[in-house]
Amino acid sequence: TAPVKQDFIRQIVRDDLASGKHDAIRTRFPPEPNGYLHIGHAKAICLDFGIAEEFGGRCNLRFDDTNPAKEDPEFVAAIQDDVRWLGFEWNSLRHASDYFEVFYLAAEKLIRQGDAFVCDLSAEEVREYRGTLTEPGRESPYRNRGVEENLDLFRRMRAGEFDDGARTLRAKIDMASGNINLRDPALYRIKKVPHQNTGDAWPIYPMYDYAHALGDAVEGITHSLCTLEFEDHRPLYDWCVDRVDLAGNPELLAPLAEKGLPVEAAKPRQIEFSRLNINYTVMSKRKLTQLVAEGLVDGWDDPRMYTLQGLRRRGYTPGALRLFVDRIGISKQNSMIDFSVLEGALREDLDARAPRRMAVVAPLKLVLTNLPEGHAETLRFANHPKDDSFGEREVPFSRELWIERDDFAEVPPKGWKRLVPGGEVRLRGAGIVRCDEVVKDADGEVVELRGTLDPESRPGMEGANRKVKGTIHWVDATRAVQAEIRLYDRLFSVADPDDESEGLTYRDHLNPDSRVSVRGWVEPAAAGAAPEQSFQFERLGYFVADRREHRDDSPVFNRSVTLRDTWAA
Ligand code: ATP
Ligand code: MG
Ligand code: MG
Repeated sequence: TAPVKQDFIRQIVRDDLASGKHDAIRTRFPPEPNGYLHIGHAKAICLDFGIAEEFGGRCNLRFDDTNPAKEDPEFVAAIQDDVRWLGFEWNSLRHASDYFEVFYLAAEKLIRQGDAFVCDLSAEEVREYRGTLTEPGRESPYRNRGVEENLDLFRRMRAGEFDDGARTLRAKIDMASGNINLRDPALYRIKKVPHQNTGDAWPIYPMYDYAHALGDAVEGITHSLCTLEFEDHRPLYDWCVDRVDLAGNPELLAPLAEKGLPVEAAKPRQIEFSRLNINYTVMSKRKLTQLVAEGLVDGWDDPRMYTLQGLRRRGYTPGALRLFVDRIGISKQNSMIDFSVLEGALREDLDARAPRRMAVVAPLKLVLTNLPEGHAETLRFANHPKDDSFGEREVPFSRELWIERDDFAEVPPKGWKRLVPGGEVRLRGAGIVRCDEVVKDADGEVVELRGTLDPESRPGMEGANRKVKGTIHWVDATRAVQAEIRLYDRLFSVADPDDESEGLTYRDHLNPDSRVSVRGWVEPAAAGAAPEQSFQFERLGYFVADRREHRDDSPVFNRSVTLRDTWAA
């Protein structure tokens, strides 16, 4: 059983259940479907869905589609895919636009209460009247319109009588408030743009703060969790919830019945937590969109992208991301998480989960001259050194092997433990080999090694126990399968790619070596993997069979992470 998670939000939830304030917890995850989800969203998803799960509550997936024409069906599908991939399921899938009629009735109620007015100021005038942090704003000359006139104008806004931007519906709160969000914020704007879900029904659209607060209230959300930048919006959130009071005015919820939606209204509480920031990454949807649009990466699911689709293709597992989110915790402290924490979570997850295989990324031929021509053997290897339940596999072995070019040195540096001319090394699971001869081409390049396998050093024999300094991995050159191996690295070479000083942009900080593709060899038991199967290629790192391009007869593996944190900044 997982340890009980402790953070200030879960404590509030516990207290609210203990005090009887709520008998069931309801949360929501409210993405705007204008891009792919990134790792920052994973933090919000794990919190929203995780809390519902841990406390026997429910979590809705709500697409925030208050902005017409921003939603793309591709993003809507991908977001659902991502949430499920992380291992969560929503109680109910909603769109903010499901509630447009409720929001409209609520706005008329605000007008009747004298809490909202139709304002004829232009956007620029509104800005001028708003004031600054140090100066109070000025009241709109339209602020004291009578209720009947406001109702009439608002209904005509809805009927489409006015041009885009000609009028807004504004909350009547306090132009002198120290919180600019309370200086008569707009609740509705005119925008004659068809909407992906409501078509031409609405020439007016609700503003985010209003729609978000009421959307939460409609769904009976108990704890509305969002990032810290909304802290200053909380007074407006509460104002909308309290002045409309959906729970106390069931007539406003009548339109839900037409959509077959249940009536569950309640008063939600907004709680903010700090956003996830990770170094060596950019995380805003805007920049991720630009990277794709400008062809700086190979699409939204490029394995170097910090989108959930990209991380998935890179070989990140839901378990690794959930472990990462648990590790960084939830607080109100803004901080920068080091990239190594993310990679560490992946290593830990894959160490337990990934079967071991052998692959060679920079091949050098090694011929064992004391084995007969055509010699073919099948060895048995454990799939996991720490977990017998992974079973064993067959690994072909023959007279000709591929070893890693880097595991041989003609002139070894100090402390070298691997192969040298005349020296010995252990071939993982096969025996001890001595290098007798170095074959070079006309340019002096080493093209082949010839050596002798000590016949008394085969696994299980007495002679296998004698000491040699190094052990190297290998594959059988006659039966290995050639593979494309993509050695991915961090997309950015600096810790803060968002740093725009000296006229630079994040584009200038791209790591030119972030994607190196090589042709290597993998043992047959790796080639036959299903797409998205992860392995530890011994001594090389964790690799995943590419989700889109891997085939048994033409394998493609992506390096997910190296075995150790070797990145020098
Ligand atoms: P971005 O600007 O990075 O795309 P966003 O807030 O505009 O993010 P939304 O689709 O509105 O994107 O986000 C849905 C939810 O995910 C929101 O509740 C938001 O607070 C949360 N979220 C977004 N980015 C992060 C982050 N970096 N860390 C934690 N939560 C995040
Ligand atoms: Mg947003
Ligand atoms: Mg955004």
